[in-house]
Amino acid sequence: MQRTENELPIVEVFLSVQGEGINIGTPSVFLRTYFCNLTCTWCDTKYTWLNQDRSKAGIDYQSMTAEDIVSRVTKFDCKNLVLTGGEPLLHQRPLLPVLSRLKERDMHIEVETNGTVPPSEEMLDVVDLFNVSPKTSNSLVDKRLRLRRVVLEAFVTSQKAWFKFVVRDQHDLLEVESLISDFSMPAERVILMPEGTDSVVLNERGRWLIEICKEKGFRFTPRLHIMLFGNRRGV
Ligand code: SF4
Repeated sequence: MQRTENELPIVEVFLSVQGEGINIGTPSVFLRTYFCNLTCTWCDTKYTWLNQDRSKAGIDYQSMTAEDIVSRVTKFDCKNLVLTGGEPLLHQRPLLPVLSRLKERDMHIEVETNGTVPPSEEMLDVVDLFNVSPKTSNSLVDKRLRLRRVVLEAFVTSQKAWFKFVVRDQHDLLEVESLISDFSMPAERVILMPEGTDSVVLNERGRWLIEICKEKGFRFTPRLHIMLFGNRRGV
């Protein structure tokens, strides 16, 4: 069945706690959209894009109207929404009525984005917090695709963004520090997160990154869900 322009491709809606970033531990409704414009090699939500050229409504995602989504989200007794993907900002036009209605119900709205899609003025207005995660060369995505100056500058200017970097080693760290300097990201808005999908690797990289955060004034975030549940969906 064909998706209409007012419908959104939704992969899952579920209640959990935010597992990464500045709001870690906050009970949250997760709304996950389909499609991504990048192909990060270590992506742990490949089910949102790996099949996108041949994707089908009802199989890879559900086509949902604004009414459907608001109804699903507000069934949970929870005031924090995490809009994630894929890359949710690919769907800004049909998303706006959803977010506006949730805002009217006093929901706090977080958006997780890879920082390559420019947010509209309306989106900047309605969203409370952007978790921007610019990709480095460890993603194996072409630099021209993963870094868009005008977009990252808009997020820095918005003062609603936190910048989360996935780090594996010293080489990654040097690259991250160069980006932070190049885009004038305030150190107190930078969050370092270890890359990994098993707790042994995350613990080892995490201990090293905590020392870097102490030294440079960055924040550290673990990957709470991987550590508690492993690499699973919908938890
Ligand atoms: S931007 Fe995010 S969702 Fe898209 S491929 Fe990279 S890690 Fe996966």
